[in-house]
Amino acid sequence: MKLLVLPGDGIGPEITAAALPALRAVSQRFDLGIDVAQDLVGHDSLRKHGTTVRPELLELARRADGLVLGPTAAFEFPGEINPSMFFRKKLDLYANIRPSRTYEGIPTRFGAFDLIVVRENTEGFYADRNMESGGSEMLVTPDLVVSLRRITRKCCERIARAAFELAVGRNKHVTFVHKGNVLKMGDGMFLEECRKVGREFPQVKTDEIIVDAMMAHAVRNPRRFDVIVTTNMFGDILSDLTAELSGSLGLAGSINAGDTHAMAQASHGTAPDIAGKNLANPFSMVLSMALLLDWHGRRQKLKAFTNAAVAIEKAVEAAVAARETTSDIGGKLGTAETGAALAKRLRA
Ligand code: ATP
Repeated sequence: MKLLVLPGDGIGPEITAAALPALRAVSQRFDLGIDVAQDLVGHDSLRKHGTTVRPELLELARRADGLVLGPTAAFEFPGEINPSMFFRKKLDLYANIRPSRTYEGIPTRFGAFDLIVVRENTEGFYADRNMESGGSEMLVTPDLVVSLRRITRKCCERIARAAFELAVGRNKHVTFVHKGNVLKMGDGMFLEECRKVGREFPQVKTDEIIVDAMMAHAVRNPRRFDVIVTTNMFGDILSDLTAELSGSLGLAGSINAGDTHAMAQASHGTAPDIAGKNLANPFSMVLSMALLLDWHGRRQKLKAFTNAAVAIEKAVEAAVAARETTSDIGGKLGTAETGAALAKRLRA
């Protein structure tokens, strides 16, 4: 499996460097033949190449079997390409799959749960994603901004399908999160498509919750959810909440998947408050890599890859229980030491 790895900015390089030994350990143990090529995006690329993303990276990403992207400081690059948006849009990675679950050993305030937020990734209230050219947020006069949200039937249909397909292999429950009472047309169409796809999966139970009420439900009783499907910005916000409810954003692995390509990417940002201090939790990156191995294994029908993904999840569970972790979830280890201990566990 050929992987293109782009560590990114802030804590990106630290968590990537700490996660790679775990990947190498499973590659050896399950004979996966993982071949890692590393390149630059973000600040390092801007310094070296004068751009945050070189166009040739797209070809390298297309030819790879998977992409790993660290967090990038998009807001610090006015006028430059946002690497995350670039790959999501160019490779049509429409499904951002963000699991959140609790672990033995991390105290939870709201009980144990295991859910997945499935977030549409290619349109919605994201100014950099909606237009063929130019952005969908406009400064009409110095005192007037118009932000457009694009919602298409095709994107609603395919994100709903991604959610139902996941739910079939889990607890067979999909929750549609929306604001259809206000965004009657856009979220109305989203709901219509979710319901339509749902009719193809009669074994899957569904319910519908308005996004603001969802914040209360997610905090009050997260265990009632299995798979949650929603539009881009609602999913971005909701998945930070569910990640934090599980213990830390540092546990928030995620994958951006399309029909032909996928990109592992932790749910969180560059965490400038802890960058360069050997404090960041690398499990978000490790778990994102596991999701990528699982995606590849399912697509190529290669059991060794899905088994490797399960082994990584189990090793993370055991590390959390043994407190071989960073301080955000109660451990005493640094980023690098946490990665090294996990790799050792995976080699055992
Ligand atoms: P950005 O602007 O790049 O989104 P941010 O700090 O606004 O950065 P996040 O990076 O998502 O947003 O971080 C939110 C909080 O979660 C911060 O307090 C950060 O330190 C913490 N955090 C994020 N990722 C991790 C991690 N891997 N390990 C530990 N804490 C993390």
